[in-house]
This record gives sequence, structure tokens and C-alpha cells, in this order.
Amino acid sequence: MPGRLQHRSALITGAGSGIGLESSILFAQEGANILLVDVNFENAEKASKQVSERFPNVKAIPFKADVSKEDEVKAAVDLAVKEFGRLDIMFNNAGIMHSEDDNALNTEESIWDLTMNINLKGVWWGCKYAILAMRQNPTDEAKGLHTGGSIINTASFVAIMGAATPQLAYTASKGAVLAMTRELAMVHAREGIRLNSLCPGPLKTPLLMDFLNTDEKKQRRLIHLPMGRFGEAVELANAALFLASGESSYITGTDFKVDGGLSSAYVTAI
Ligand code: NAD
Repeated sequence: MPGRLQHRSALITGAGSGIGLESSILFAQEGANILLVDVNFENAEKASKQVSERFPNVKAIPFKADVSKEDEVKAAVDLAVKEFGRLDIMFNNAGIMHSEDDNALNTEESIWDLTMNINLKGVWWGCKYAILAMRQNPTDEAKGLHTGGSIINTASFVAIMGAATPQLAYTASKGAVLAMTRELAMVHAREGIRLNSLCPGPLKTPLLMDFLNTDEKKQRRLIHLPMGRFGEAVELANAALFLASGESSYITGTDFKVDGGLSSAYVTAI
């Protein structure tokens, strides 16, 4: 069986952990070459080793970049194109949730700026250089390859719901990712470049579990989750794979929610 991403190449940011790591594994399993980008190079290296050992038929290259830095994102995209000859999938997934991110009164400006620079500006740089690369993708009819590609930007359920456990900068940054992605999807629709936001619900990954560092904090959220559990990173990776593949060829500009029903909830079962 040919893989769902055979002959494709992907760049995944935040590939060293959580959703990015699970997506790297799934994308490789489906035949894609991958540039695994993370500011934590040690984790990116570990992840690429894990991928290469399991799927020796694809290339999995680690790369250190801070997505908030334009020149580092450009360098990552340039390397992917140099190594793989094309960039079909850009997964702008890296993000942070700072422990000092709070409400309007208590959040320091430095925390706001840091969060915006990574979660929002980082996605902009990723989109910018992916669009430039995807325009240049060579066509190969025999392999089903064309110009254009799929860009997936990780937002969050908090982009569409309010929470009385505030993380103001994080929430604002993710809302902006949704708005930016919709607009870019419209601008580039006729170029064969699809852009979609992925909206995860609360997940069992280091990002959230480090933030919810007491049982009380976890229970405060769990009571609101229709399925009674946090999501798993691989459940998001499966959604990202769908958005990356040709199976989602008529989907662009969407807020793709993978939240266990959370954003449809009023009263949940107990
Ligand atoms: P994670 O912490 O497990 O992984 C995030 C990765 O991003 C880490 O490897 C980290 O080193 C990397 N990273 C952080 N800053 C970076 C930077 N400046 N440049 C490059 N890499 C950087 O988190 P995760 O849960 O897998 O989160 C992935 C995405 O999903 C994030 O955008 C996050 O906001 C979003 N999200 C997560 C949840 C959740 O509950 N975990 C919910 C909604 C949205």
C-alpha cells in the first residue's frame, strides 16, 4: 500500500515533543520526508532518531530553530527544500504556554511579548516561507505532485472559548492564529496552497501537564471535558495527517477542532 504522504516532504515545528513528535512519526509512517524543527535541538535529534529507526526508507532530519526568529525559520525552510527538493506540508505547531501568563491585571508585558512572538509571529514566519517554497514546487504528474501544498497552524480550543482560568496572552495569540490562517487561506486558495488551523482540546502533553501541576488544577478542567479525559497527542497527529494529505483536498480556511466535544458542551455527563 502506498503511504498517504508518499513522495511528499514536510517541515514540522515543535517536533521534539507532544503533537509535533507524534506527527513526525505518523507522517514518516505514511512516507513523507521530514525536517524536525525545534528550539530544543536535543529533543529534535532524539525524535528524528526514533523516526529514522522505525522508518529507514524516509529522511528525518533534525534542525534547531527558534520559530520567533525570521532568519531561523527561513533557514529551516531552505534546508527542507535543499534536502527534499520540495516542501508539500508545513506544520506550524510549536507553541508555549507560560506559567506566568495570567489575567489582564497580572500578566507582565514581557510574558505577553514572548508568547506572541512564538505562538503568533512564529506562525506568520512559517507561513511566509512555506508559501514562497510551495509556489516553486515542481510538478510530477506520475507521482501526483504539484505546486502548492498544505499549511497547518496549531491554534487551540481557547481561541474559540473563554476560560475563567486565564492565560491572556496565550488565548489572544491562538485567536489571532485562527484569524490569520483564514485570511491566508483566502489569499492563496487559487495557488493550490491550503491553510487550516488545528484546534486541540486540552491534551496530556508536557505543555499542559507542566502547567496543571497539581491534581486540583487538573480536576478543575476535567469536570468540563465531555469524554472525561484529556486528549492524547497522537489524536491530534491523526487530524494533522488528514489535513496534510490529499484526503482533505477541498478543505481550506477551517478551524479544525479536535477537542473531544469540549467546544459543544453546556452540561457534561458525570
Ligand atoms: P509540547 O510542549 O509537548 O511541545 C511543544 C514543542 O515546541 C517543544 O518541543 C518545544 O521545545 C517547542 N518549542 C517551544 N518554543 C519554540 C520555539 N520558539 N521555536 C521552536 N520550537 C519551540 O506541547 P504540545 O502540547 O505538543 O503543543 C503543541 C502545540 O499545540 C502548541 O502550539 C500548543 O499551544 C498547542 N496546543 C496544545 C494543547 C495542550 O493541551 N497540550 C491544547 C491546545 C493547543
